[in-house]
Amino acid sequence: MEWYEHPLLAALPKAVRSKLPLAAATFEAGDVVHAAGQQVERVHFVLLGTINLLHKDQTLGVKSVVELAGPGHLVGAQTERGSAVVARHEAVAAEAVRTATLEQEIFQALLLESPPFAMAFIRYNELRRELVEERSIAGGKINIESVRVNDDLIRRVTISYVLTNRIIPVALKSGTATVALVDADLKKVEHDMKRLLGASRVVPLKISQKQFDEFQRRHLGMDLATPAGEDELAWYREVRGRDYSIHYENPFESLLEKAKGKDLEIDGAAVVRLSDKIIGEALDLDASDIHFEPYAGGMEVRFRMDGELVARPESVRKDHLAAMLSRLKVLAGMDIAERRKPQDGRATAVCNNRKVDLRISSVPTRFGEKIVIRILDPVARLMDLDTLVVSREVLDSILWMGERPYGMILICGPTGSGKTTTIYSLLMRKKDQPVNIVTIEDPIEYILEGITQVQRNPSVGLDFPHAVRAFLRQDPDVILVGETRDPETAKASLEAGLTGHLVLTTIHAGNVFASLYRLSEMGIDPFIIANSMVGLISQRLVRRTCPVCAENAPYHRRLIEPLGLPGLRKPEGDFYMFRRGRGCAACNNKGYKGRMAVFETLRVVDDFKHLLAENRPFSETRAAARKLGIYHSMRQYSALLLGAGLTTPEEISRILFYERGEDLPDASKES
Ligand SMILES: [Zn+2]
Repeated sequence: MEWYEHPLLAALPKAVRSKLPLAAATFEAGDVVHAAGQQVERVHFVLLGTINLLHKDQTLGVKSVVELAGPGHLVGAQTERGSAVVARHEAVAAEAVRTATLEQEIFQALLLESPPFAMAFIRYNELRRELVEERSIAGGKINIESVRVNDDLIRRVTISYVLTNRIIPVALKSGTATVALVDADLKKVEHDMKRLLGASRVVPLKISQKQFDEFQRRHLGMDLATPAGEDELAWYREVRGRDYSIHYENPFESLLEKAKGKDLEIDGAAVVRLSDKIIGEALDLDASDIHFEPYAGGMEVRFRMDGELVARPESVRKDHLAAMLSRLKVLAGMDIAERRKPQDGRATAVCNNRKVDLRISSVPTRFGEKIVIRILDPVARLMDLDTLVVSREVLDSILWMGERPYGMILICGPTGSGKTTTIYSLLMRKKDQPVNIVTIEDPIEYILEGITQVQRNPSVGLDFPHAVRAFLRQDPDVILVGETRDPETAKASLEAGLTGHLVLTTIHAGNVFASLYRLSEMGIDPFIIANSMVGLISQRLVRRTCPVCAENAPYHRRLIEPLGLPGLRKPEGDFYMFRRGRGCAACNNKGYKGRMAVFETLRVVDDFKHLLAENRPFSETRAAARKLGIYHSMRQYSALLLGAGLTTPEEISRILFYERGEDLPDASKES
């Protein structure tokens, strides 16, 4: 943010603004902007970074963050005019901060002399109070940086407990345990603290994931957070100056023209240019989704890049909000007049000779409709299996499954874990064979020549199970069923697998054994599961270490060993060496570039089928699978990726811990 973009300064008449004796100030993380209880000489209009306002709790002796002031905020001012301004809270820079600063005296004079500025300041304070109230409802906050970590307590609950549950015991005093936590079931925490520390009462303090990462970095001596880029906005600077002209290939183009007369009245051309620009930027940045999120002051735009939502530094102005919503809805072929019901639609956009499908959905919110555009690139992300799978053993497993003449291949994982890419890569292998391939999908993410793709359409009764039954009458060899989420689809797909067809489908489940469990939970006969299933694949995505700036980095064994990864190279003393990106221009200082899948596979061989049919307990089934050599775990795959320097322990711990991998408790048994 430039100083003149600061909303409070922008409220000043230009003539006043240009004469303002503003000075630039910068702070490093940890710098004190002003101390508590002292007169505040200068106010700071925050332009970049975050300043924490800290309150010191006398009894606990810890400081907690009561407010965060980011770009657009003001630090050092109070509403009472005239009187000497004494700081209630200490203000400390949380990261590199840049402000425009003004003498308190001049600031107070401005409030008196410029009514528009005073109004803007009052509105700002109201907004702020609302935010603070919201936050205090969410529970007390703690400034984890200021806590002196009690090693003894950590040892007693174990580091692995801290990492797995993201719970840090901070103090234990006369039976009361104070714990900092990211999010947790309080009942469970109370139970755990009683068991582990003998505490009879628990005081929870909420911390953010970022603070937790910071704690890990400081106290476990390792940086589990993404290396902080010096210039986090480099990615945006790349595209912000570019011009985009997008052509839309859809039947709604004429509607676009018509709509220009109505809602688009307000600066219609500018809004069209801006929406084209945002979509064009998303394509250039290889974003997978664009989120348009209205709030009181306008509309925030966020791009999902490599799985992370990143805010576009420039939001959409409030006076463009209505026109922008109309523009996007028209693009999608939605009803512009309908604002209370969720809608969805689609469009095909062509930008710089690249053609993509846009899946657009709207949901009404308090400040207007939130719109999400999913970008589906039919060509870009198709990958050959050999490229997708880096483990020879896992590749062979998957190929083995694909070569079965009939049966079901089940691919599991949460949304956004790359299941579709895997399934299509498998289909590509099949497509060159003399077989008839049909798919029922929602949405059709990639267009493959030579196969019959059908879009699911429940409104005309074309749901997954109905489509499967209809397909069976048309003599297919391979059937892809987009998703199995109900017993009816599961049953239809498994039966198709039993009657001589190869069926590929996905399921929302944590791992391969959990998927088998989900199916039997749906009431499917274990005998049918056992006889139809030929293989299961589970997957997650991790960020790939940037090859340009990767360097050796030491990781303390206390961090690595709880991951339970088999077959790692021996540590040097207390430290394992892995590759980690330092951050460079090629990766926008993130240290990562692109993503890759981590797989778990289970081949269902004949010797294994009777175990499945008997519906034995999870642990027994897995032990048998290991013995038969048909199971390859996510931990094995992770160890391989780490050994090859393709990703970092940070990424691996994220998928193994934070995605609640159900195989965690048995980690120690893995060899
Ligand atoms: Zn790099």
